Amino acid sequence: MNDHTVDPSRCAAYGCPCLGTTSNSTGGTDKWFCGYHAGTDAISWARISNELNRLSFIVLSMEKINRYRSRYEWEKVYREIQNDLRLNQRSDLLLQSGESVSGWYARLDSELEKVCKGTQPALSLLPQSAPVVDPGASDSWKRASFPVPEHA
Ligand SMILES: [Zn+2]
Repeated sequence: MNDHTVDPSRCAAYGCPCLGTTSNSTGGTDKWFCGYHAGTDAISWARISNELNRLSFIVLSMEKINRYRSRYEWEKVYREIQNDLRLNQRSDLLLQSGESVSGWYARLDSELEKVCKGTQPALSLLPQSAPVVDPGASDSWKRASFPVPEHA
């Protein structure tokens, strides 16, 4: 018996607020993960869940878009979403003029994706090193380009 209730439609990573959309397995387990947890190391699951909960208004907005975009309630729901985004100080995530709802949805999705992947300070802080010149290679280039016959 399961003594903890798990919503089977939700992502299997602990604490994740997202719907499970991707089956992780080819081996027949019935666990489903969201697009942010799928394919990630279990060691980063808690961090990803934390980020998703912190940005749960985006998660919720995306679910609403999915569910209501083609329904008659859409106009009301759309206003709710815009309000939520403003309340959370994310006016940058509002639907922009000329943007399709699919484009908007994709933008919200990539925002979450970006946060879940984490910024990679270690990489961006490294000074760009000069391309490594292989001395052997340049030597052989010199040798190869030097066979000018002097005593022809
Ligand atoms: Zn998840």
